[in-house]
Amino acid sequence: MRVLLLLLLLGGVVWGKPLQLELPQEKLTREEENAIRPGLDYILAFYRKLGYPTPESIRLRIFATYREYDSWRRGHSGAETNGGYFSPLYGEVVTWRSRRLPKTLVHEGNHAIFRTAFNDPPTWLNEGLSELFEEMEASGSLPNFPPHPQYTPRILRLPKGQIGKDILQVVNMNYATYHKSGYESHNYARAWALVYFLWKKGLIERMIPKLLNRPPQEDDLGTLHRAYLGGLPALERELEFFFRAGI
Ligand SMILES: [Zn+2]
Repeated sequence: MRVLLLLLLLGGVVWGKPLQLELPQEKLTREEENAIRPGLDYILAFYRKLGYPTPESIRLRIFATYREYDSWRRGHSGAETNGGYFSPLYGEVVTWRSRRLPKTLVHEGNHAIFRTAFNDPPTWLNEGLSELFEEMEASGSLPNFPPHPQYTPRILRLPKGQIGKDILQVVNMNYATYHKSGYESHNYARAWALVYFLWKKGLIERMIPKLLNRPPQEDDLGTLHRAYLGGLPALERELEFFFRAGI
């Protein structure tokens, strides 16, 4: 009993309190909750490790059907998305019970958690991290981040010598430009690819504080140029090599 108490106490100190899920609409089944917990816990631990504030709870407004979701969305948000969105205004994730529900909740959960720390993170970084986290596999002892099943082949279809150039186009895009062509936009593939590359190279945790605290006269490309060894030319070359070499 005493050992158990000690373990619980240590767990609380190391990992913090578990994230409370507020569910004002549909409840989650045990299976659905089990499917999203590892991802959300991982995201919380990730931002805590970087020293950023994290929320104690997030609100997940889940509708039973697309129709109900869509009519709520029209009344409450400018987001034009069929799957789900995070509303900073209402402080809640809004979605519906689609086949993608667990992935959507982890994706939008990252937006909710990231934006507790920063009001306006770079769009490519915010989306790229969400895309990375939603693909997390937690079945083994360590979480695994496999190459994205749709985006990897898309990136590999680019002409020779164009991968790095193409991916880096996403970096200075503002929110409106990024989302102009909706969820099918190639920008999601680009954002995922850059974050995935930085992640695999062990650079993401060093880059995030630099990107979020960049001097006002610098843009995100400028920060990457300054922070990446060899600057943008090296980053462009190494992105090409990384994806062509078979990730
Ligand atoms: Zn998103």
